[in-house]
Amino acid sequence: MSDFLKEIANRRKRDPLAPVTVVVPSHVAGLQLRRRLAEDGPFANVRFETLPRIAELLGAGDLARANRKPLARPIGDFVAAQVAREAQKELAGVRDLPGFARVLRFTFLRLRRGGFRRAEDVPIQLGSGLLYEVVRLYGLFRTRTSDFYDTEDLLDAAATAVRDRRAVGSDLGDVYVVPPGALSASVDALLSAIKRAVGASHYHLVSDDEQEAERSFVLAPDPASEAREVAREVLAALEAGYGLHEIGVFHGADPAYRTLLNRAFEAAEIPVSAMPGTPLSETPAGRGVLMLAELPLHNYSRTKTIDFLSLAPLRDFLPAGGTQASLQPARWRRIAREAGITQGIARWDSGIETLIRDLDAERDRRDDEDERRVRIQENADQARELGDVIATLASKLQPLQQHQPAAQFIEAFRAVVEAYFDPTSPTLPAVLGQIDQLGTIDAVGGSFSLESFVGALRANLEVVYQRDSSLGQGVFVADYRMAAGLSFRYVALCGAYEGVFPAGPRAEELVEDRFWQDLRASHPFLEDAALRSERSLAQARRAMTAASERLTWTAPLQASSAGREHYPSHLMFKDAHAIDASIESASALRRTSRPNLVHRPPSPLAAMLTGRVLDLTELRMRDSMAGRRDGRSFAGHAVARSLDLLNARRGAEFSAFDGNLSELAGDSLIPSGAVSPTSLEHYGACGYRYFLRSVLRLRPPEEPEDRETIDPLEKGNIVHNTLDDFYKAMQARGRPAVNEPWTEDDRIELLEMLEARLDESEARGRTGLRVFSEHERRRLRADLAAFLEHDTEFRIETGARPTHFEVALPEDAPLVAGLRMRGYVDRIDMTEDGKKAWVIDYKTGSTRSYEGVKPENPLADGTKLQLPVYLAAVPGAEAVPMYWFISSAGGFQRMEFLTTDENMQRYEETLSSILDGLKRGTFPAVPGEWNDFYGVWDNCNYCDFKRLCSRRRDEEFEDKRGDPSLQPWLTVGVTARGEVTP
Ligand code: SF4
Repeated sequence: MSDFLKEIANRRKRDPLAPVTVVVPSHVAGLQLRRRLAEDGPFANVRFETLPRIAELLGAGDLARANRKPLARPIGDFVAAQVAREAQKELAGVRDLPGFARVLRFTFLRLRRGGFRRAEDVPIQLGSGLLYEVVRLYGLFRTRTSDFYDTEDLLDAAATAVRDRRAVGSDLGDVYVVPPGALSASVDALLSAIKRAVGASHYHLVSDDEQEAERSFVLAPDPASEAREVAREVLAALEAGYGLHEIGVFHGADPAYRTLLNRAFEAAEIPVSAMPGTPLSETPAGRGVLMLAELPLHNYSRTKTIDFLSLAPLRDFLPAGGTQASLQPARWRRIAREAGITQGIARWDSGIETLIRDLDAERDRRDDEDERRVRIQENADQARELGDVIATLASKLQPLQQHQPAAQFIEAFRAVVEAYFDPTSPTLPAVLGQIDQLGTIDAVGGSFSLESFVGALRANLEVVYQRDSSLGQGVFVADYRMAAGLSFRYVALCGAYEGVFPAGPRAEELVEDRFWQDLRASHPFLEDAALRSERSLAQARRAMTAASERLTWTAPLQASSAGREHYPSHLMFKDAHAIDASIESASALRRTSRPNLVHRPPSPLAAMLTGRVLDLTELRMRDSMAGRRDGRSFAGHAVARSLDLLNARRGAEFSAFDGNLSELAGDSLIPSGAVSPTSLEHYGACGYRYFLRSVLRLRPPEEPEDRETIDPLEKGNIVHNTLDDFYKAMQARGRPAVNEPWTEDDRIELLEMLEARLDESEARGRTGLRVFSEHERRRLRADLAAFLEHDTEFRIETGARPTHFEVALPEDAPLVAGLRMRGYVDRIDMTEDGKKAWVIDYKTGSTRSYEGVKPENPLADGTKLQLPVYLAAVPGAEAVPMYWFISSAGGFQRMEFLTTDENMQRYEETLSSILDGLKRGTFPAVPGEWNDFYGVWDNCNYCDFKRLCSRRRDEEFEDKRGDPSLQPWLTVGVTARGEVTP
């Protein structure tokens, strides 16, 4: 027990009821000191209070009698924001910047704590232009808030009350002030008044404890590993017999430690009593209410809206038009994606309406399949319901976009919250309390729009904490600046690196430090950089002396994600130096390898493999590693499989982890029904892509996004559909005749059809930004107009007429190498006698990915197989299959496949090779050549599985190229080139 507690305990033995007041630095310190005093036996009439609480008891009555009300934080923030907008001179340029009002508010607080009640009290030197303007604004702030009182006013009022009524002394009895004592002029004034009132002999300034705890040191690779090491150290302390309430963990001023430590303790199932707790802004209700308020500001973006509906603690039924809809976020997420929603109420409206129209049309087409029709109808109903939910939500939020008096705004917003949020959500009442508190700005004529409200609400929710457990129920975890007055048998000081333990003085944002220094000369409580550093250092020392028996220092060597290097705090270094004088600097401590003094795991992985086991993941990892060393099998462990994968991928063998499924070889790996040439082309280029897409049938989730430019796939569809519309319309009129050129009217009609298709796509939000889509529109118009001319030339050249469009390959077409092929041919032109046909596949892009197609390699190593497949569409004719690049980007080039016996044989043999590769389970990942222009491997450019593939896929493929089990895939290319017969 501290000396002063012993003194109080001893005095009570003489006079058990003599009043004693202990002025504590925090509520939690008061609680702990009370418990520590109680260890010596029960006591009465000893009060542990913070000074603001004492001030409230002594001074609030006088202030109320003077008609002054407490300055609620929102009022102060609001007036500061108002005043900020009136900034002039050098500050005029920054007054509209977000954050300026906040900085100003802190500066006002600094002046107030320094002892300046009025702007006139601040002596301003020549040349301090910024300070002059800041002080002018401070004057405005003080005048406009003169009906209210802040903590400093309360302390001043209490000091006056104590001075005026000396009887207060007997109420307080002996007064003990626990450090840090006076940090502001008003605190100093009150403490001085109390000292005079109770008499110097009854007034005791408690000195900081000087406890010599045993030291140990940990240097961890990064903050996350460090937090886990702290949990390990705490486990050791618990095993050594320390109670939960006897352990304290303080971290440096890096706020990331709060989460890291919570996570590490949670993993190790160590109960924690974190102070000050969780900010309301991080609780489900707090987060949810902020998400709700921000929806209009995010223009109802699909992801934000669905996240709100999924994550906020909402009621089971939500308002939907005049009725209620059951909350179904997972379904709604799918529907919103299908509807192609990106953002904006108009987009929600039109997207859902179009989806419902499409679903209705599909349902009507399927009049023979009852079950399917019912499902489609259900989907349409759910889409309608989602549309109603969003429309209702928007109708409630949109009016709040307008500025309105605070009380009116709060009432309306509160009503929305109550209509949507589950009233049993644990922190909702506290969040509603904070919303109500924002209504206090009504007292100064304040108003809100959603935008200003979100900032104010966030600020409020960030500074109010939800305590999850009380002191003593778990290991105490807090920022080191909360250590004053606390004591634990075992303390871990983590995040103890230079700059955050102790925290630096912060850069001056408005006024240069030299001006603060000048003011401090006459007002010692005004903070300049030196005073800030001094106070920070004192706080750090208090965290150190909070340890009565053992103290563990921990620091990370690097920032997270192998960022910049960190150096141990000079306080940590000094402690290490005191034990080992050969450690002469923080850098030397960083490098030291003295295992008895400094525990220093070399990597995050090594940290998980040594010392006490923290959680199941570590246990599994250690078992897996041990099993690997002993040759035992730990196949059931997820971590063991990951290690196997890493090992296998780095080897020269083509393994199961690289796509070698030979163990499953057989017919089950080949497609059971008809197969598209495109999927076989995928195999020819990259076996793994085929495996993921056609065997596992993986697809990326459709994520509608606000593209700036039109998606190439959408562009291709528009062009294909336009040409289909055009040729079918012409065919219905018996056109074109043989050799008939297209006319100007035809061109106009084609372009009108194009416009209609583009408009439809635009209505579905798929054409990108207007500025780019207009450009694309012009380009497509030019391409199609030019194409008509090329088409005229082509038909005059062939003497054929377009006769069939969008033709499906016949289901009874002969098998090729045992495979049934499926697909659609864009267009077939035939001569009048029906003996000769041109089978056309339109391509709307460039010829770049067809550069491998050569007369001597027409199948481009097995990656271009469509053309011979399409021959099945015209069984009775002499056919010329061809790609036609119908854009200026493709130069309107035609690329024919010569149906020579050799090419046809090669085609069949290539399909056989592919079939063989599939049957034998050979699915290697083959990225192809690196493409400098696109910054990606050629095969991977348009592949959906880039994130699933190894980042070293190029090297891994080369390393395994020599493995004979890769041969079936390699044979495809060899066969397609006609180099060997398989
Ligand atoms: S990303 Fe590249 S290597 Fe991987 S599957 Fe796709 S094409 Fe193959």
